[in-house]
Amino acid sequence: MDTTRQHAIVIGGSMSGMLTARILSDHYERVTLIERDELPEGAELRDGTPQARHAHILLGKGLQILETLFPGIKVEMVSQGAATQHWGRETMVYRDC
Ligand SMILES: Cc1cc2nc3c(=O)[nH]c(=O)nc-3n(C[C@H](O)[C@H](O)[C@H](O)COP(=O)(O)OP(=O)(O)OC[C@H]3O[C@@H](n4cnc5c(N)ncnc54)[C@H](O)[C@@H]3O)c2cc1C
Repeated sequence: MDTTRQHAIVIGGSMSGMLTARILSDHYERVTLIERDELPEGAELRDGTPQARHAHILLGKGLQILETLFPGIKVEMVSQGAATQHWGRETMVYRDC
């Protein structure tokens, strides 16, 4: 049996899909990522990720993992408008419930 890993296919090009494709690229000769939406150039809203309209938080461990997979991603995200802050010291959450 041929055990050469030649081609992996990932469906969905958001956080999980892109991270999965990144990991698989270490193990497969070719990775194809299939995304239903046409991806915008910048940080713009699109139909496939309606939750993107809500503010999202990336915790420290997640950022640490992202940096190992995509060196320099924090600088890139900040340059695209991501805000950085210390969750415990600099954040207040108001809930109306
Ligand atoms: C209101 C709200 C607030 C949230 N806040 C946070 C937060 O602060 N921090 C946090 O970590 N998480 C937060 N989450 C959770 C986070 O948004 C999800 O866990 C995360 O977006 C899931 O990522 P995903 O890549 O698995 O899926 P998605 O981001 O949903 O991406 C799925 C992708 O698959 C594509 N797709 C779907 N069907 C097909 C198809 N048939 N063919 C090809 N492509 C397809 C879509 O277009 C999309 O790009 C929040 C969620 C909600 C709803």
